[in-house]
Amino acid sequence: MKRIVILGAGESGAGAAVLAKKKGFDVFVSDMSEIKDKYKEILNSHDIEWESGRHTESLILNANEVIKSPGIPDTVPMMIKIKEKGIPVISEIEFAGRYTNAKMICITGSNGKTTTTSLIYHILKGAGYNVGLAGNIGRSLALQVAEENHDYYVIELSSFQLDNMYDFRADIAVLMNITPDHLDRYDFKMQNYVDSKMRITRNQTENDAFVFWNDDPIVTRELKKYNIKAKMCPFSEFKENCAIGYVSDHTFHIDGPVPFNMEQEELALRGRHNLYNSLAAGITADLAGVSNEQIRKGLSDFAGVEHRLEKVGRVRGIDFVNDSKATNVNACWYALDSMTQPTVLILGGKDKGNDYSEIFDLVKEKCIGLVFLGVDNTKLHAAFDDFGLPIADVRSMKDCVDECYKMAKPGSCVLLSPCCASFDLFKNMEDRGEQFRECVKNL
Ligand code: ADP
Repeated sequence: MKRIVILGAGESGAGAAVLAKKKGFDVFVSDMSEIKDKYKEILNSHDIEWESGRHTESLILNANEVIKSPGIPDTVPMMIKIKEKGIPVISEIEFAGRYTNAKMICITGSNGKTTTTSLIYHILKGAGYNVGLAGNIGRSLALQVAEENHDYYVIELSSFQLDNMYDFRADIAVLMNITPDHLDRYDFKMQNYVDSKMRITRNQTENDAFVFWNDDPIVTRELKKYNIKAKMCPFSEFKENCAIGYVSDHTFHIDGPVPFNMEQEELALRGRHNLYNSLAAGITADLAGVSNEQIRKGLSDFAGVEHRLEKVGRVRGIDFVNDSKATNVNACWYALDSMTQPTVLILGGKDKGNDYSEIFDLVKEKCIGLVFLGVDNTKLHAAFDDFGLPIADVRSMKDCVDECYKMAKPGSCVLLSPCCASFDLFKNMEDRGEQFRECVKNL
């Protein structure tokens, strides 16, 4: 019997284990950290052997194939040994893709993945499609393939997931953009990260479609290197840029079999970046055969995703916006770009090698104060101290919201869009956003 070893027992690992067991493999799961109770229960209820807090070589290096969690880098000692033994390593998505004939809609990019994936899912679901949401959000693809039977899957793919995909093919691939991120996992070489993102088009045929942002200089440069066979579906802010989805005179257009038009005002999501996300979602839904009427409905009644430019309250005429998910400078750029009121901006956290100069002009144009929320704010001071803006340093969300409240005036906005990861003061970006929401509620 073929032996499959799964490294990492989170959402994707537990799901892969259940599917592998169902398909008759000899399955073993190993996790260096403590496995969450929820996943232990899933493994136990399917009679799957597992270990937690260690990797036992003799139980791992006898695998015929390894399914690796996207969180595990190739450089950890066990991965090096697996490579030395020549054992093939794949991702959970690659594995699950072998056991379903459903249509795969896959979304990647440096920013905008979750929003676009959720929006596409919302439109398809609203149009009555039998569709599952998977990848970085929702339940694992493998578990859904094991236990349900969807006709479509909308899958958010990170570069780490794409790295271990080989034969998988997306019926519709969506590439939002490519800007520097996670370079620590790519030998600090931007091209390695770019190559990983471009894997979304791998194995696509003439019958598939590739939706991409045609205003992105990296994406357009890379396209010249690849012989992509899929139907090319570019979107752009500008009609002149040969796009099939674009905006002109405040109207949103998609050149489908039946041309689609909609007032930009009617879109549920605001901000320039969300225009791109809405274009990508509209084109994708059109390719999947959704009617214009249903696309219009889905684009206009989508409730948004929490922690992404989420309005959490208005106190004394001051709006509070939670964009905790903005963990890189580019995401914060788009958040600031969408601000129409004078803004108190909250920055700080764990810096991933940020270059803040990208947001200098927008800070000068839109900000009336800055609050630095982090254990070490030295780099932020070096970047912003000579802007002449009021600046406060804080180490808790309560102090942060109190300071912002003092700096802001009626008619202005407080924006949490920190450019940094949250791990210095919070459990994760969700915890940071939830504490923000709570503190605003208590003002
Ligand atoms: P991801 O899943 O790729 O991290 P999200 O949809 O969660 O993307 O959005 C993360 C942050 O990136 C948001 O807080 C928003 O400020 C910004 N953002 C969203 N869409 C885009 C886009 N298309 N281009 C640039 N930035 C974006």
